[in-house]
Parts: sequence; structure tokens; C-alpha cells
Amino acid sequence: MRDRLTKARRSWNMSRIRGKDTMPERVVRSALHRLGYRFRLHSRKLPGRPDIVLPRHRLAVFVHGCFWHRHRGCRNCTTPTNNRRFWVAKLEGNAARDRMHMRTLRKLGWRVVVVWECETEKKGFAQQLKRRIAKSTGNRPPLGRGQGVAQRSGLRQVSPGRRSQTSQPGHESS
Ligand SMILES: [Zn+2]
Repeated sequence: MRDRLTKARRSWNMSRIRGKDTMPERVVRSALHRLGYRFRLHSRKLPGRPDIVLPRHRLAVFVHGCFWHRHRGCRNCTTPTNNRRFWVAKLEGNAARDRMHMRTLRKLGWRVVVVWECETEKKGFAQQLKRRIAKSTGNRPPLGRGQGVAQRSGLRQVSPGRRSQTSQPGHESS
């Protein structure tokens, strides 16, 4: 019974890391979007390849699975009983690499925020994320002065009623 559960959890975890577009990442992205942040995904140029990057704030966000990245104290931070030594080495190796990447990023002048998978499942996650980013960036607003709703939605500043002319003609109606 115990083994079956462990196996089930392992495959569940693996299914979640296979693609880069995991559910927790989607939750974080949609929260950031609603909060008005502009971001890029999977920056290959940066150490540890952060899942989400907010260039304007020089902020890197890692969305970590609790099992694979060792979320201490979390109920999902389990160690399989079969092949225990292998798993301990592997998982602790992951966590050590994470710490190294974060140190390197900070040395390069980046702010780093780690979001744990279990946090994304909780109510009020978006507000929590908002507070953490605000704390990390020193309460810097998501966008600069003069960058309001129009900027956020990807449109140029235009007077009301002329919106449709801002994008390429015919684009919106197609
Ligand atoms: Zn967790």
C-alpha cells in the first residue's frame, strides 16, 4: 500500500515536471498578469533558468515543485523509501543546485523569489505574491509612470474611441 502511494505520487510529480508549462507556473503567470507585471518566460541566459523573469524589476521567479526541490517542512517534501540513498542524493543535489543558482543570480544583481507549488494552491496566493514582490522590489509599482492600462493591455496610449486604430488595420476583425 505504502509503495503504491509512493509510486503514484512519484509519477504524479513527474508528470508535472515533464512539460515546462506546469500548473503552478500557469497560476503564477496569471497572478502576475492580473497584478500588472510584465514578464518573460524561461530565461535561458540566466543561471538556473528562472521560470519567470520580470526584466523591469530585475527579478527572477522560480516556481518549484515541493518534491523535486525539497520544500522543507512541506508535506509534499517526501523521500521515496525504495532506493532511498539514490533519492536523497538526487533531491538534495537539486536543492544544492538551486541555492547555488540563486546565489549567482543575486551576485549578478538580480532579486530572486521562490514560489512553492503548494503555495499556488492556497487561497489568496495572488495577494501573497504581490506582497512578496513588493517587499523584494522595495514597493516599486508594476509599471513605470504613465504606463497605465493601455500599456498593460499591449495597446498604445490613445484617446477613447480610437482604440481599434492602434493595432494593425483589419487585425482585430480577422
Ligand atoms: Zn510545499
